[in-house]
Amino acid sequence: QSTLKSTTKDPFPDWRPGEPVPYAALCTTFSLIENTTKRLEISAHCSLFLRQVLRLTPEDLLPTVLLMLGKLAADYAGVELGIGESLIMKAIGETTGRNLAIIKADQKEIGDLGLVAAKSRSNQPTMFKPKPLTVRAVHHGLMDIAVIEGQGAQGRKVAGIKKLLSAADIHLAGKKNAVDITKDKGGPSESKYIVRTLEGKMRLGLADKTVLVALSHAMVWHDVAKEGNKMPGQDVILKGENMLKNVYNELPSYEVIIPAYLENGIFNLRDSCNLQPGVPLKPMLARPTKSITEVLDRFEGKDFSCEYKYDGERAQIHFVAHSAKLDFATPVAASGKNEKGVSNIFSRNSEDLSKKYPDVLAKLPTWIKDSTQSFVLDCETVAWDVNEKKVLPFQQLMTRKRKDVKVEDVKVKVCVFAFDLLYLNGEPLVNKSFRERREAMRGAFEPVEGEFAFAVYNNTSELEQIQTLLEESVKASCEGLMVKMLDGPSSFYEPSRRSQNWLKVKKDYLAGAGDSLDLVVLGAYYGKGKRTSVFGAFLLACFNPETQNYETVCNIGTGFSEEMLSHLHEILNPIIIERPKPFYSHSSGNKDQPDVWFEPRYVWEVKTADLTLSPRYRAAADQVSDPSGQGRGVSLRFPRFIREREDKKPDDATTAKQVGVMYREQQVVSGQKKAAVDDD
Ligand code: ATP
Repeated sequence: QSTLKSTTKDPFPDWRPGEPVPYAALCTTFSLIENTTKRLEISAHCSLFLRQVLRLTPEDLLPTVLLMLGKLAADYAGVELGIGESLIMKAIGETTGRNLAIIKADQKEIGDLGLVAAKSRSNQPTMFKPKPLTVRAVHHGLMDIAVIEGQGAQGRKVAGIKKLLSAADIHLAGKKNAVDITKDKGGPSESKYIVRTLEGKMRLGLADKTVLVALSHAMVWHDVAKEGNKMPGQDVILKGENMLKNVYNELPSYEVIIPAYLENGIFNLRDSCNLQPGVPLKPMLARPTKSITEVLDRFEGKDFSCEYKYDGERAQIHFVAHSAKLDFATPVAASGKNEKGVSNIFSRNSEDLSKKYPDVLAKLPTWIKDSTQSFVLDCETVAWDVNEKKVLPFQQLMTRKRKDVKVEDVKVKVCVFAFDLLYLNGEPLVNKSFRERREAMRGAFEPVEGEFAFAVYNNTSELEQIQTLLEESVKASCEGLMVKMLDGPSSFYEPSRRSQNWLKVKKDYLAGAGDSLDLVVLGAYYGKGKRTSVFGAFLLACFNPETQNYETVCNIGTGFSEEMLSHLHEILNPIIIERPKPFYSHSSGNKDQPDVWFEPRYVWEVKTADLTLSPRYRAAADQVSDPSGQGRGVSLRFPRFIREREDKKPDDATTAKQVGVMYREQQVVSGQKKAAVDDD
């Protein structure tokens, strides 16, 4: 906190205790955050503001935190903004009386619709003076816009946006050029941040994790001040930080945590905030390994288990029986109601998949034992061949519709393969050993052929047996093996972590083909020869959560069938944008520019032979040391398209940090190889 100088002047004299938080106050903080790249400062601005909210208007803490995250609700609630440019431009035009053509021209020139809104606003006199916006009113207004559906939805959305924009930046309205969009990234304009929230991208350089940590600090400060103490010590701050991180890991819902905090304080959060059915937790992920011997080296002396790595879609199934007695109000949606209870399926991104898998939910009562009253099950849904009674390749699963599936129309059947149990009969199991969790899982469900099965495993550390299991897994259409620690705290379930206690051994690595990356499509080049009517190659990027930029990493034109290319052309064409977004980080060289740029929407899995440095790309440029001193980025050599990752959003793409690690690890390996050769 000491990184910020305190000012004696109160910037918001109108914000008195108990009064709604002025939205302008939050925007001032946004602007301070946007105008620094120093992480400590970002965190301090964030936490100072949250402390102020807690001091003056604690009941606004929840909408404030949500707006800081650029969200309206937790991911599982399915409330999404991401409003299209054209609707927003229409609303800006109608609010400010500016001609749509001028707004379009501005957008073309500036490339940031938030700034276009700010500029339009400051050039527009207002006839009447609406009341200044408050954080709760903005949250409410945005929520109204997000949930509009059905006939005339677009018109009603525009009306909602206009309502917000016409109350924004009142103090600036009419003061010609009061917002200088060339200075301080446009300053604390309310219209700018409303528009960015509508677009679903705040671009403040404020990572979700920073908000979490800042919130914990604010909570600790507030609690300590309430008890009459002036300043919390570092140890208390750290204790609070760990408390909130742990609680959030198990229960990633500010909607539940913040009210509980306001009632009982940060150090009592555990009393009421634990994993609960209905709130999906971020799944535990695995680290890649290159060989079985690497697994044996890493887990030497420990008991571990090797399981089939099924190739389908991660699914977290939540269930509460009608008869279960719970001490919390479960938000499990009614969509999965059946004779036994209510259930939900969530994706690896905590999206609600209940509308994609109504067939699974319908069959669920047949494989739950009567003694099983509530659970959270970690599993993989895999396409199933009903005639041959075996697993089908992943591609089959991808042909299923994603939404509004009717049970009677389902053509590709799925079987659920369960591999972990995180909650059973009112008790979280995440802090129990994997051996215990697996035993509890096997006792709670009854396998039903083609509907539900437990992941095949072998608790062996014999190289040959592991090799055999791997070969069998591949024959059974699996991707390879997952290797998991069995006992002790290192086998506990670690939500949201890519843990070193879970290793994956994929069949492809063994063939020496290298790891795969999940990358965002930013641009494309028109094809040549036979491919002139479609895109022939694409520009891909990884994501940097710290700067919130997409950093380019390769061009790719290999691995696509003709059919796939026309499909890609069809889905990418509608999201072409006039110019790269300001948060795309790519070489500025003329010959490096793609023919078209896209909104960041699609994520593809890509294989690479190896990684190298190139002046054309920007990936992880600040993390690798470039011997040439040119600050080149990491790039993929011979990248090959594997598949679309529909279950990943652009922000879930491989991170710049991971790309940096892959590059450095490869350097180490090739260094070792070289050393071995030199030794010979
Ligand atoms: P990948 O491309 O390998 O799926 P990822 O980033 O989605 O990468 P990883 O951590 O690499 O996830 O691999 C774990 C994934 O493997 C899980 O998300 C899950 O979907 C799948 N999986 C299949 N079988 C198992 C299993 N027995 N145990 C754990 N995860 C499994």
